Amino acid sequence: MIKAFTVLLAVGGLLAGFKGFGEGQDGKAEAIHRRAITVDTHCDTPMALVRGNLDVGKKNEAPGSRVDFPRMKEGGLDAIFFAAFTGQRPRTAENTQEAYTLANKMIEKTYEVCAQYSELAEVATAPEDVFRLEKEGKRAIYIGMENGFPIGTELERVEEFYNKGVRYITLCHSSNNDICDSSTDIKGSEHNGLSTFGKQVVKEMNRLGMLVDVSHISDKAFFDVVELSEVPVFASHSSVRAIAHHNRNMTDEMIKALAKNGGVIQICLLDDYVKDPDTTTVRYQKEQDLREIFSSQWSSMSEDEKEVVRKKWRGLDDLYPKQLPTVADYVDHIDYVKKLVGVDYVGIGSDFDGGGGLADCADVSEMPNITAEMVKRGYTEEEIAKVWGENFFRVFTEAVKATANN
Ligand SMILES: [Zn+2]
Repeated sequence: MIKAFTVLLAVGGLLAGFKGFGEGQDGKAEAIHRRAITVDTHCDTPMALVRGNLDVGKKNEAPGSRVDFPRMKEGGLDAIFFAAFTGQRPRTAENTQEAYTLANKMIEKTYEVCAQYSELAEVATAPEDVFRLEKEGKRAIYIGMENGFPIGTELERVEEFYNKGVRYITLCHSSNNDICDSSTDIKGSEHNGLSTFGKQVVKEMNRLGMLVDVSHISDKAFFDVVELSEVPVFASHSSVRAIAHHNRNMTDEMIKALAKNGGVIQICLLDDYVKDPDTTTVRYQKEQDLREIFSSQWSSMSEDEKEVVRKKWRGLDDLYPKQLPTVADYVDHIDYVKKLVGVDYVGIGSDFDGGGGLADCADVSEMPNITAEMVKRGYTEEEIAKVWGENFFRVFTEAVKATANN
């Protein structure tokens, strides 16, 4: 697989104009970016698709929208994972069913828009699909699921979602669920890591060739998953805790265990996960107030009330503009993982349309800036190709291959 990859990299792709490369670049970074197979393993764009306020086949503007097919082409992004995301709510039968319905809607919408713009993009399910689609000049749209909440406690739903094209499940989100503990649940641990049901879910995912995503899960749950999984696992959008001290990020011990397991950490572009926030600003306080509402009152609010809060959140940028981290801050995380465990275990997962976005990488069209920064720091073309796609597709291929051998 790696060999086929190298051949395809040499063939290169026909990618449209970039706006990401700044003046003074000698074109080296652009050429390297064009030749690499590039994948972003996490965005929350299906949320906007379901709300009906995004035409993904037309060019939109950041910060309102950060991903669409034309801007993917502009930014030389060959593949992306659209996440069917559901927020964690109290685990009643009714809420679980609503999450199940919403996740299905997001998946259906993803198929719908890819069919609508079939000349631009196609739903992909196998690792090798990206090569075929890249040659055809189309974006490969893979489907992931962020939060296992829609599964509830019904194991057969894992296969049901696999059959609908879902190729990874982020086991939980901001709070604990029936599968495992979250890294950010204010109530703390409930299962001491992975639950008994969660163990069955991981085994089932291994059996199907579905990737286990360890982003969002607690440290203990992470170590449980690594010990249990028969194939390498990955973090679809997580950064380095030694740099940005957020529980959502991974410690050195976790990154070492992930590398030993053969997996990959896909560094997230969300500001607080890239750089510690300045806690002395008014903006920070206002954000904390809204976060408090999100974590304590959200589940009992009506849609109208939620929209008021969402509007306040969106309005923060106008009232209290934020000093976002830069691509240079971001590449510090890639450097850190490279020095800690090697360049084979790090990749890119933006979290665009779910909070991700940097000062100089506000949307998919600006992703070549990451390549430019890596070139500036002396990364070789081989290393850059690994970070942009080879590492992730190695993990994906191993998960699939293990099932074929069963
Ligand atoms: Zn997330």
